[in-house]
Amino acid sequence: LVNYDYLIVGSGLFGATFAYEAAKRGKHVKVIEKRDHIAGNIYTKEQDGIQVHQYGAHIFHTSNKEIWNYIQQFAEFNRYTNSPVANYKGELYNLPFNMNTFSELWGVTTPAEAKAKIEEQKAVANLSDSEPRNLEEQAISLIGTDIYTKLIKGYTEKQWGQKATELPAFIIRRLPVRYTFDNNYFNDIYQGIPIGGYTQIVEKMLDSDLIDVETGVDFFDNKEEYLKDYPRIIFTGMIDEFFDYQLGELQYRSLKFETEEMNVDNFQGNAVINYTDSETPYTRVIEHKHFEFGKGDKGKTIVTREYPANWKRGDEPYYPVNNKANNELYTEYRKLAENQPKVTFGGRLGMYRYYDMHQVIHAALEAVSQEFKD
Ligand code: FAD
Repeated sequence: LVNYDYLIVGSGLFGATFAYEAAKRGKHVKVIEKRDHIAGNIYTKEQDGIQVHQYGAHIFHTSNKEIWNYIQQFAEFNRYTNSPVANYKGELYNLPFNMNTFSELWGVTTPAEAKAKIEEQKAVANLSDSEPRNLEEQAISLIGTDIYTKLIKGYTEKQWGQKATELPAFIIRRLPVRYTFDNNYFNDIYQGIPIGGYTQIVEKMLDSDLIDVETGVDFFDNKEEYLKDYPRIIFTGMIDEFFDYQLGELQYRSLKFETEEMNVDNFQGNAVINYTDSETPYTRVIEHKHFEFGKGDKGKTIVTREYPANWKRGDEPYYPVNNKANNELYTEYRKLAENQPKVTFGGRLGMYRYYDMHQVIHAALEAVSQEFKD
């Protein structure tokens, strides 16, 4: 029987980064993963020569040079720039909101004209001076009615499964508006997609004689034994599930993915198209080959439709819902966590935070430096 120093629950980016760093320090690590593959939500799989993002579009972006250098140890990145297009009842608009969008919407050609138009729209809405009471009022007060109606309302209502008038205003604190012809979605300095997909990153992180990985193993099938047998546990599953939901359930949003292989070279001409009306049941259509500039077999493409869904026990919890009530409940779970000195809770589900990839690596490296005091 091997004597492990660590049990890591979950082979996503948090667990894998921690495992890699622990092994680098000579520690013996066991990783268990309940899915039948490693890499968590960044998992990509090749089909028809195309890297298919199995759990939704993943674009790496950061302004942190250390994190950017760190991830490049495990893959070479291409120059992909996220520039989604919105489809509203057949009308196409560039995102994020920028001069291209304004020109498409109103035929304006200069920043001054665009600003005037937005001011005029806000005035038409005739909102009171008081604080916006819901997401609809907030959005209109920031950007006016046209953009709200065509590009925000339907998409947001589908995403959250609630009417915009029933959603809290804070979901939209600010809206990125650019008065330049720049369709780059992110403001970060570094951005790209790993050539050959994301899975290789986790594979390389876990490729060590000191790391053993078992997939198809659920921590909760043997929780008590794991807690007894391992000196330290890094847990990247759901913190409320770890405590058997004893304080109540945290809320999550789930997603359903519908993937289709098509016998055409190019289905939609862009990696990501957002469907912003409320009639179309899906929010996004991803055409994976465009993440790598059309790489893949001739005459084939893979397309995924993304449907938002309510979460209930047993579903995949893709997004934490970080509203006030849930964050307060999470704080209560944190108190329980402090009575579990053997266990460190990490990652998107363990820390109940909507982390992007660069933030999850950052959080994992922080946990590593706390653990090893180096
Ligand atoms: P996960 O990847 O969820 O890994 C946790 C792992 O633990 C999973 O594999 C799970 O199966 C396993 N696990 C859970 N419970 C148990 C258990 N009981 N026993 C054993 N194993 C268990 N980030 C970006 O930077 N850019 C993007 O464009 C982007 N797009 C996204 C799109 C979508 C649709 C989603 C859902 C996320 C996106 N993200 C994006 C965020 C990114 O996916 C996360 O930052 C990252 O995957 C989090 O890593 P993690 O290790 O914390 O969690």
